[in-house]
Amino acid sequence: MTADAMITTLKSLKLFGMADTIGNLAEQGAPAYQQAIPILETLLKAEVAEREVRSINYQMKTARFPAYRDLAGFDFAQSSVDEALIRSLHRCEFLDDAQNVVFVGGPGTGKTHLATAIAVQAIQHHHYRVRFLSTIELVNQLEQEKQAGKAGRIANRFVHTDLVILDELGYLPFSQAGGALLFHLISKLYEKTSILITTNLGFSEWSGVFGDPKMTTALLDRLTHHCHIIETGNDSYRFRHSTAQQREVKTRKR
Ligand code: ADP
Ligand code: MG
Repeated sequence: MTADAMITTLKSLKLFGMADTIGNLAEQGAPAYQQAIPILETLLKAEVAEREVRSINYQMKTARFPAYRDLAGFDFAQSSVDEALIRSLHRCEFLDDAQNVVFVGGPGTGKTHLATAIAVQAIQHHHYRVRFLSTIELVNQLEQEKQAGKAGRIANRFVHTDLVILDELGYLPFSQAGGALLFHLISKLYEKTSILITTNLGFSEWSGVFGDPKMTTALLDRLTHHCHIIETGNDSYRFRHSTAQQREVKTRKR
């Protein structure tokens, strides 16, 4: 590591006093300093690595995934999703320019699993910031902050997040006022923060959730402008596996 590289690293660790001193020592070219370089390098690399681990752990906690999931644990042979498309989203390039993703399909078809796997990759390998919420939880939070006279706080927080996952749009209905708040939030995030939505509803059914057909059209227009749509089908993995297990238990009993 050159003295310049070391100074850059120290500054990135906010150790400005050390950065200054090392600059001076390097200029003086003292033998004691020359001898200490390998040890300094080792210490710096250890500190950088340790901070990276701590930051990833922090981001994983802050994201609030309901459960850890990754692609290694996803059996594509048991799913009707487009594997190439999932693998390309897993490379996380869609986050560079705030593109959106919609997973649509029946319950138990792997929507939450795939959404989580992509987001975990985004944190662990690309250092992105993610927030995972159920859609109804978010709508409730938006209504609460409005009632408390603090409208806009959640939006401001999400603008500084790279990916917001809204899980289970359409499972539970929300009020028209709640739909409007969600609409405003999604509009604010447009082209700034990627939104990933999982839903059991086709786009034509979304106005039933938001209550207002015109607003829904405007919302879909923005959301789908830069958007990847993945259909997960209707064949529930959970259901298939619970029935497969039951069959196994029955045959074992015989
Ligand atoms: P959805 O969100 O579509 O309702 P989930 O992603 O929650 O479905 O999937 C239900 C359960 O089945 C989860 O525990 C998930 O890990 C598992 N699962 C779904 N599809 C697959 C698959 N193709 N391979 C492995 N596990 C799967
Ligand atoms: Mg789900």
